Amino acid sequence: MNKKCLFCQIANGETSTEILFENDILVVFKDIKPAAPVHLLIVPKKHIRSINDLTETDRSILSELLMTAREMAGRQGIAESGYRLFFNVERGGGQLIFHLHLHLIGGWQK
Ligand code: 5GP
Ligand code: ZN
Repeated sequence: MNKKCLFCQIANGETSTEILFENDILVVFKDIKPAAPVHLLIVPKKHIRSINDLTETDRSILSELLMTAREMAGRQGIAESGYRLFFNVERGGGQLIFHLHLHLIGGWQK
């Protein structure tokens, strides 16, 4: 936990952000500025700055992020219509919050 990190605070239940799904490894919540009808953020509880900072021991976190994205797409009813999953990496890659997160966007034509 990084006390100054917004996503650490959200994952730790210190904000009013509604958590759509939570387990030991991650939390899922809606993006505050959605870029699509469905825009979720899948966020590990562990503070990892970006994809660049992953280590061998984080493999299970990464697979949990992807499997949860798949599950959430189903729950949101966009599995069949399709969706995009992406990580922005560092400033040049569009990353604004330096706590790893997977974007799930879709729902354009449910
Ligand atoms: P990045 O550009 O770092 O990949 O994405 C950060 C995302 O976090 C952006 O899409 C932005 O809208 C979202 N975001 C920033 N602040 C908040 C917040 O306080 N609450 C929520 N739910 N999303 C946020
Ligand atoms: Zn953090």
